[in-house]
Amino acid sequence: MPISTAPYKREYLHTKRRGREALITCGICGKRVPRWKTFETRKGFKINDPTILQQVDKRLVHLNTNSMRVCPSCARFHHVVKKGKSVRKKHMKI
Ligand SMILES: [Zn+2]
Repeated sequence: MPISTAPYKREYLHTKRRGREALITCGICGKRVPRWKTFETRKGFKINDPTILQQVDKRLVHLNTNSMRVCPSCARFHHVVKKGKSVRKKHMKI
C-alpha cells in the first residue's frame, strides 16, 4: 500500500499518526489546531527601512520578533498566506 497518493505536498510532514500530533494554539484566535495545519507568521515590530536595519543589531531585531503559529482561517484573514497559495481547485478534478 502506498504511503500517499495525494498529488500535492504538505509543508509539514506527518511523522506520527494523524490526530496524535501536538496541537498548537493559534496566536490570533487561540484555537487549538494540529501543527501541520498552522502557518508561521511573525508578530512584533517590523523594520522595513534598510537604513535602519543597517544600524540596528540584527539580533536585537530578532528578539523583538515573535514567530507565532496561526490557524488557516486566521492566516487567510490576516493575509499571512497569499490567496491561491494553498492549492485546492487544481487537483479537484480526477
Ligand atoms: Zn486562529
